[in-house]
Amino acid sequence: MARYTGPVCRMCRTEQKKLMLKGDRCKSDKCPINRKRAAPGKDPKARPGKRSDYGVQLREKQKLRKIYGMQEKQFHLFFERALRMPGITGENLFVLLERRLDNIVYRLRFASSRSQARQVVSHGHILVNGRRINIPSYLVKAEDEISIAEKSRNMTLVKDALKEFGKAGVMPWLSLDPDAMKGKFLAAPRRSDITDLGDIKEQMIIEYYSK
Ligand code: SF4
Repeated sequence: MARYTGPVCRMCRTEQKKLMLKGDRCKSDKCPINRKRAAPGKDPKARPGKRSDYGVQLREKQKLRKIYGMQEKQFHLFFERALRMPGITGENLFVLLERRLDNIVYRLRFASSRSQARQVVSHGHILVNGRRINIPSYLVKAEDEISIAEKSRNMTLVKDALKEFGKAGVMPWLSLDPDAMKGKFLAAPRRSDITDLGDIKEQMIIEYYSK
């Protein structure tokens, strides 16, 4: 699966929003958004132009897609799957995104960013219910146990992430045993539980794909 390999902070500057793509750097003073850097190619003193409805919808979709580190084609497939599920499409989309294995690995503090989590998964360091899974988009189910493979437990990257980020605890729909390097996906979250993505307006994303 193709992935974006360009400058990561540029994506946040384009959206003028912290997308938290670089782990601990995002919380430091080095973050270009904290330093109020303008969007790429924009004069910092220029007045913000008025966006069309389409432009606003596009930006909402791009923000969410970039947060989860997905390419357009795969993101669109997730949206279509959310559309076919019973219930509210926007909520379904968030649940599907949260169930991605790379996201769960990040949320369990086994990696400091989703892109690092993606790497940990695709290099075969993660077990789901004791079985090695190396597909970042694999959808985890309620009560699935996610753990670090025995031979990977000494990985500095994982130990550092657990040490640095483990203190903050995990989201309420997960449980973590940091000493055993394993956690559980307890149940699918509700939209209102996902509080760390800022003000993403999923209705705009639905309107974007409805055209
Ligand atoms: Fe870069 Fe993280 Fe700041 Fe985004 S939030 S600009 S990825 S340091």
